[in-house]
Amino acid sequence: MRSPLPDYLTEVLRGCADSSGALADYIPELARADPDRFALTLVTAEGAVYSVGDDHTEFTIQSISKPFVYGLALQQRGFDAVLDVIDVEPSGEAFNEVSLERNTGRPLNPMINAGALAAHALVLDGRQPEASVEDIRSLLSSLAGRELTIDEKVASSELENSYRNVAIANLLRGYEVFEDDPDEIVEGYIRQCSVTVTTKDLAMMAATLAAGGVQPVTCEEIFSRDVVRQVLSVMATCGMYDAAGDWLSTVGIPAKSGVSGGIIGILPGQLGIAAYSPRLDDHGTSVQGVAAFGRLSRDMNLHLMDAP
Ligand code: GLU
Repeated sequence: MRSPLPDYLTEVLRGCADSSGALADYIPELARADPDRFALTLVTAEGAVYSVGDDHTEFTIQSISKPFVYGLALQQRGFDAVLDVIDVEPSGEAFNEVSLERNTGRPLNPMINAGALAAHALVLDGRQPEASVEDIRSLLSSLAGRELTIDEKVASSELENSYRNVAIANLLRGYEVFEDDPDEIVEGYIRQCSVTVTTKDLAMMAATLAAGGVQPVTCEEIFSRDVVRQVLSVMATCGMYDAAGDWLSTVGIPAKSGVSGGIIGILPGQLGIAAYSPRLDDHGTSVQGVAAFGRLSRDMNLHLMDAP
């Protein structure tokens, strides 16, 4: 029997059409995106894909890389080593806030830039600069189930405008959160953010988390269950910039957004969801993406705090 889901998802896209919001322009190359693109993909924990809209459009992963790189650091270095360096407390602040614990310089969580730069350094682990970027590109490729590449134009565009991330990385180095060259960490982090994806790739990555760390199509075991639980917990509390509380109470699923217009959400044991639409609200999150997630959550009773 033909699934009614694609028709429903097409209706969601139509119902959530909204031309408010603005393209991110602090990375000049992102301002060149087509503002009218809108895509929505669902992948079940068993690997069934339901996808509508502009799901072939490629965009850079940006901050949606953060939960996966945090997972990689946990997997490679172990929980104690990572928790020593990055806390798990919501900051309630914007993604690029200079937000560090007062005495130790420890970033408050891995979803803000300070924590993501520290997570990148944990993955680098004192090796040559390219090593962490390749580990991360390869991890994201395994999660997506296809080889992903880096958009060098977006990477250079961000590198030329990375004063704030350079400042944060220098502070982290000053507090001895890592011992690497701060410029190298910023460059690696920016290249990590410039990996190119579609909503199908992102939904497959999200579905891997939903399936406890096992990629639903290739069956590769990418993350342990403990790592997945930690990553999802941090996404639930810190994943949506300074709107994380609002998101958790209204939509009610662990999620992460990025400034290029992507959002992923995970229903543990069930579903990975990805939306893409590049016009952003004041928090730096996709306007139409937020609307689509809100609608799915309401219509399909996805809020994790609802009694079954
Ligand atoms: N590369 C971006 C930055 O650090 C990622 C921001 C985001 O998607 O939130 O500024």
